[in-house]
Amino acid sequence: MEKLSIIVPCYNEEETVDLFYKEAERVKAQDFQEMEFEYIFVDDGSKDKTLEKIKKLANDNEHVRFISFSRNFGKEAAILAGLDEATGDYITLMDADLQDPPSLLKKMYDMIKQEGYDCIATRRITRKGEPPIRSFFAKCFYKLINHISDVEMIDGARDFRLMTRQMVESITSMREYNRFSKGLFSFVGFKTKWIEYENVERVAGQSKWSFWKLFKYAIEGITAFSTTPLILSSFIGLIFCLVAFLLILFIIVKTLIFGDPTSGWPSMVCIIVFVSGIQLFSLGIIGQYLSKTYLEVKHRPTYIIKEKK
Ligand code: UDP
Ligand code: MG
Repeated sequence: MEKLSIIVPCYNEEETVDLFYKEAERVKAQDFQEMEFEYIFVDDGSKDKTLEKIKKLANDNEHVRFISFSRNFGKEAAILAGLDEATGDYITLMDADLQDPPSLLKKMYDMIKQEGYDCIATRRITRKGEPPIRSFFAKCFYKLINHISDVEMIDGARDFRLMTRQMVESITSMREYNRFSKGLFSFVGFKTKWIEYENVERVAGQSKWSFWKLFKYAIEGITAFSTTPLILSSFIGLIFCLVAFLLILFIIVKTLIFGDPTSGWPSMVCIIVFVSGIQLFSLGIIGQYLSKTYLEVKHRPTYIIKEKK
């Protein structure tokens, strides 16, 4: 019998885990009688009763497993832990809040089986229920990253996807500390089909993403999958050197011809401030890459497990 592993990262999801399990079991009874299910709930250091709820599910049901982190390591770490532990022939990643409808699983599975894909990924076509400003910045981010990175990132892509064991193994073989899954999935290649669905609002609880968290995540994506900003800062530096060289020539010639009355102090200050701004900006870019490298070379674990079944 084939086995499907369902990985569910949970951070403060006490209201939703039971609802999720119920819905997934309903789908199993309806569409997947011939398939064994394995649930892996990853408690990402929740501060509410999520772990208790998950433990109860695991106690009552043979095919439910759980992993509990020693603290909050973030969704990326939870995804990796789940992928590491999964034993199924097919593996799917789903949010606990039912924003990724389990009812789509059958369609996705059939596509893999019949059309020979390695992965069925999902993207939402609308961003309904999301603050407009967030949608705007998300759009800008995808435009930018697709310009400067070789790895394609799809706007509106969700983490919800069904993958074959082979693809999952290639993903877990990449042990980088700064993980940007959307890029990693794209990096490993394999035949991926995108299906679209309307955004669904979460059944209960609140989104864990603040604007600041998303901003940091975007920087993560850029530094992990593009070195264009580094090239850009060298390029800007070069242009400024050229401009400065021309200015120096101009000033020397001007001084020789017209003498040197003390003027132009305000413009001088403007130029100094501007150029130091550019310098700091470039240093900042280099700093971003350096800090990521620093974190990588320390080889710290991406997550630490406290308990599991
Ligand atoms: N999540 C997690 N660790 C975190 C933040 C979120 O495991 O630090 C989980 C969360 O429990 C949920 C999924 O990631 O199952 C998606 O989170 P959320 O619904 O808040 O994100 P959104 O759907 O708004 O993008
Ligand atoms: Mg959600």
